[in-house]
Amino acid sequence: MTYDLSNLVHRYGERTVLQIGSLHIDPGEIFALVGPSGAGKSTLLRLLGLLEAPSQGQLSLQLNGQSFTYATASIAERRQVVMVFQRPVLMSLGVRANVAIGLRIRGERDYHERVEQALARVALSHLSDAKAHTLSGGEMQRVAVARALVLEPKVLLLDEPTANLDPYNVRIIEDLIREQHQTYGTTIILVTHNVFQARRLATRVALLLDGGLVEVGPTAQLFDSPRDPRTAQFMSGELVY
Ligand code: ADP
Repeated sequence: MTYDLSNLVHRYGERTVLQIGSLHIDPGEIFALVGPSGAGKSTLLRLLGLLEAPSQGQLSLQLNGQSFTYATASIAERRQVVMVFQRPVLMSLGVRANVAIGLRIRGERDYHERVEQALARVALSHLSDAKAHTLSGGEMQRVAVARALVLEPKVLLLDEPTANLDPYNVRIIEDLIREQHQTYGTTIILVTHNVFQARRLATRVALLLDGGLVEVGPTAQLFDSPRDPRTAQFMSGELVY
């Protein structure tokens, strides 16, 4: 899946929260969006997830030669893009039922094997019979990741997927992101305020400040030879907002 954004502006009421001249995201990238709190990262992720339409400008996706937008996407096209939110919303059901929920909504049948495989990938097979609300925060986030992966999306959008998690859970989720990239070629767009996570995972990084893209480039460029002084400051932890 390819993304093309041009002259994009997003407003909430009178406030402009995003202003992006152009951005292109290639299929199979792990693209990290970094920036301080309030920079507009989650808003951009929601636009990329076709959950909101931009106030102005273009945001289009291309898949198999077909181009579509928030306004024109078919249900089948929309379903190629799956988002994992920062705070997982689980139903008061068992773990297995929570992982299966997207498949059920899509009218799929015979998904039991796929659900078991997804649970194994997030190392939760031993808890598949548990009630979701009895899990720890890290386990809940892994259920949310399994629920997304089992849908086999072309694009996986992750909003601070490991914020507030302990190192064990961070490791499992980061390993899965790498595996999804390497084995399935899924386009992964990751919002994180943690520059170390971006460095560990991303193929390219974009720094967002005050709703604008300061610098976009290969991960090594942003960390080792940034072109904008604000990038150097943010990546080294000096830029405090
Ligand atoms: P980040 O993810 O980088 O922390 P956000 O995208 O959440 O930033 O927010 C960017 C700005 O947009 C913030 O000032 C926030 O208050 C504002 N904002 C986000 N969502 C809404 C909304 N639904 N209504 C009004 N303002 C919003």
